[in-house]
Amino acid sequence: MPDSGAAPLVVRDLKKRYGRQEVVRGVSFSIARGECFALLGPNGAGKTTTLRCCLGLTEAASGAISLCGYEVPAMARTARMRVGVVPQMDNLDPDFTVAENLLVFGRYFGLSAAQVRARTPALLEFAGLEGKAEARIQALSGGMKRRLTLARALVNDPELLVLDEPTTGLDPQARHLIWDRLKRLVQQGRTVLLTTHFMDEAERLADRLAIMDNGKIIGAGSPRAMIAQHIEPHVVEVYGDWNGAGVAAWVAQHAAAYAARAEISGETAFCYVNDARGLLEHLAGQSGLRSLHRPANLEDVFLKLTGRELRD
Ligand code: ADP
Repeated sequence: MPDSGAAPLVVRDLKKRYGRQEVVRGVSFSIARGECFALLGPNGAGKTTTLRCCLGLTEAASGAISLCGYEVPAMARTARMRVGVVPQMDNLDPDFTVAENLLVFGRYFGLSAAQVRARTPALLEFAGLEGKAEARIQALSGGMKRRLTLARALVNDPELLVLDEPTTGLDPQARHLIWDRLKRLVQQGRTVLLTTHFMDEAERLADRLAIMDNGKIIGAGSPRAMIAQHIEPHVVEVYGDWNGAGVAAWVAQHAAAYAARAEISGETAFCYVNDARGLLEHLAGQSGLRSLHRPANLEDVFLKLTGRELRD
């Protein structure tokens, strides 16, 4: 029997290799009931592999996983009955209607057709797909498909909802709708684990998050705590005409006197400061330069911890 008081997910020292490459290198985290937890990281960091190990879809080399109170991989099938999964790629059945997709998925969880039919109106309402029960999958927009995949993941009334990049490829309107629905689920007390590389998504949704890179967690905490711990509170982005001297020379000559730290990306200088006044006054006297003063955010933390080089 599972430990009913257990955290929905506990991961200890997880390691996984593909061939010679160790892609998950000792990852540990746990998610409390009712919490929204985000796993962030650049492409190739090992997020999807970590999720797949947690769900028992691929076997780890070592480590311990408890999913909904069950040991994984030994009891993965049983554990998965309590989990809803929204995969990175929508895998709805194109030959079936919206309602039939819910029905087929519900049957997989051992629900009767009558049970699924009874749940269908509420699921479609939640997904903003009222009136679409008989629609073919091909007739749905990308946003609608994503929402249907989310509704489908709720068909078994899961204890834990796992979403792999839930809003990748969606337009802003569709993203906001998904965010709204995920917030609702957390408010209802559901536990959510998501991966994303959108910092604004993590900042809006996550109670806690972990940043992964090269198979390791390199920072974890609430979004606010992460910002307070890793970064100065103000950022002044400076760009424009560098009077022929170039951004690097300007940073060396001017920013260093005012900023605790400065980074250069392309033709923009990112100045991280505890108090922006001195730098802004200095900039007011510099013709040709423009600036944007904003509070530090999670993206600043992410870029500090993982660097600014491109990951392909
Ligand atoms: P993320 O989700 O953070 O982008 P992944 O977990 O998908 O990262 O991938 C981590 C690393 O593992 C990458 O280098 C990727 O190429 C490799 N990888 C993932 N899946 C496989 C696989 N099935 N076979 C071999 N290598 C894989």
